[in-house]
Amino acid sequence: MIRLFIPHDLAAGGELALDPGQSRYLATVMRLAVGDELLAFNGRDGEWRVRITAVTRRAVAVRAEAPVRPQTVGPDLDLIVALVKRGRVETIVEKAAELGARRVRLVTTERTNADRTRVDRLTAIAIEAAEQTGRLDVPEILDPVKLEVLIGGWEPGRQLLFCDEAGDAPPILQGLTPPSRGEGEGEPWAILIGPEGGFSPSERRTLRALPYAIPVSLGPRILRADTAAIAALTLWQATLGDWTPKGAP
Ligand code: SAH
Repeated sequence: MIRLFIPHDLAAGGELALDPGQSRYLATVMRLAVGDELLAFNGRDGEWRVRITAVTRRAVAVRAEAPVRPQTVGPDLDLIVALVKRGRVETIVEKAAELGARRVRLVTTERTNADRTRVDRLTAIAIEAAEQTGRLDVPEILDPVKLEVLIGGWEPGRQLLFCDEAGDAPPILQGLTPPSRGEGEGEPWAILIGPEGGFSPSERRTLRALPYAIPVSLGPRILRADTAAIAALTLWQATLGDWTPKGAP
């Protein structure tokens, strides 16, 4: 069944007008008609079964009929990535949404050569990925800030997995020790991935000196930023995240 993120409140009975893009998708691409059903979520009210009540080529209305799943939210994991080429940032946002990051924070560093990006476009990519992947929230995409601003405003208690390609950092699994039962569960984390040019020596020194930072290696090969992001998210989820059901050994 089609799943759509819609910004409206979802409660039984209300009639909701979809935006022109979603309306066109449902009416002309998927050729849905009055009476057809789909699933909707808004990041707050869980997932709902909704039924189409009106269709024109540009305007579709639906009515929320019944809740299907209660709202859930994944682990409190930020992916922090330096701005890289547009296509790679887009891949990173899509994969971060699929792999369950709660936020994507963009940063500029000494060696990034872009300082702007289309956050609205990245948000649309995050929404689409959330729709297809079945999650009930959409990762928030935050405007780029300088690395020192990010560090200056660091939230106390959030641990930072610093992916350091320099070669002398311990292997990532050494930095990700699964907590013993019940302990350290649900703690806030962040993963940091640098730009294509890497971090400068002074940035590395600063990052390594942060008390909450854990420098780690992703192996002997230099990975592209998008590959590094996917690898780090995967290993984090498999060791500390929600890939292990609660209560499993
Ligand atoms: N400038 C670097 C490459 C940077 S790769 C060089 O050519 O030497 C982009 C980012 O991906 C890095 O800053 C790092 O955060 C991450 N990364 C890539 N390979 C990695 C590895 N083997 N270990 C840890 N992090 C890695």
